[in-house]
Amino acid sequence: MNILEALQALQRDGIAALEEIRGSGQLPLWYRTYLGRKGRLTQLLRGLGDLSAGERPLAGKRANEVKAALEDAFQARQEHIKAAELEVALSSEQVDVTLPGRPIAPGHLHLVTRTLRRLREIFAEMGFQVYEAPEVETDENNFELLNIPAYHPARDMWDTFWISDEVVLRTHTSPGQIRCMRESHPHPIRVILPGKCYRYEQVTPRSEHQFFQVEGLAVGHNIRLTDLIGTMREFAGKMYGEGRKMRIRGSYFPFTEPSIEVDMDCILCRSEGCRVCKYTGWLEIAGAGMVHPVVLRNGGYDPEEWSGFAFGMGVERPAMLQHGIEDIRYFYGNDLRFLRQF
Ligand SMILES: [Zn+2]
Repeated sequence: MNILEALQALQRDGIAALEEIRGSGQLPLWYRTYLGRKGRLTQLLRGLGDLSAGERPLAGKRANEVKAALEDAFQARQEHIKAAELEVALSSEQVDVTLPGRPIAPGHLHLVTRTLRRLREIFAEMGFQVYEAPEVETDENNFELLNIPAYHPARDMWDTFWISDEVVLRTHTSPGQIRCMRESHPHPIRVILPGKCYRYEQVTPRSEHQFFQVEGLAVGHNIRLTDLIGTMREFAGKMYGEGRKMRIRGSYFPFTEPSIEVDMDCILCRSEGCRVCKYTGWLEIAGAGMVHPVVLRNGGYDPEEWSGFAFGMGVERPAMLQHGIEDIRYFYGNDLRFLRQF
């Protein structure tokens, strides 16, 4: 029997054997026998090398045809058998279509979102509207117009991610002050600016490269430092409970003058001293101050006629204090074991 006859026989045998198969469990054995690495076709192909150069092309072509025919027959038989088996399964096994589906558990708001909403509520009660500003800002709004020129050493405190030479991911919500003032002039302003900020810095349990801030801004006639302190006192009472003690310390920010840090008595240790308050009995809740005349002017308000205060506070930090969370990285780790607790 020459090789062409052998190929013909192989095709005939293979297809006949496929027809005999009744269950999908037998399919792999057929495949190994006829088309596998050690199967009958492979063995025949080894014989091609013994043929003369004149015979070889025809035999090779024929071998490919046989291979394709067997592959096609196998696919068709496999589909036929599987469909038949599925039909048998569906008619013999019971499916109760009246059973209730698997419930999808309702989610809940992220702790940061809930804290943000509480902050909005508290300030809304004091007459502050919400002003939304973009997270991608110009260098001008984020630094220059807030009295932080390129050579200013304070820029070291706000290293950030640069989109281009002129555009940054905002390092604080303060650039929104400029936008808000320019849109509101010549009317008085009372807004909070909540949103996400970014800083290019080492990630530690205390600091993330992304975080939320809420900024407050009030501009009007005869606004004084005592108005700022009163606002902070009202906020602390509503957020952390009535009767909070407050402490004001002098500080420095380029965009406020004078600048202050607002502290309250530590709610964790009742001012007796603990790790969180670094054994001082005090917790810092906001940086604040009177809007710097240069910033007022950049916003379009004449500092001779107008005055204002501004404050900024974190959002993760109050949540950490209230729930005893020790690591800020949990907020963005997407670990449901953490998120489900709140
Ligand atoms: Zn403490």
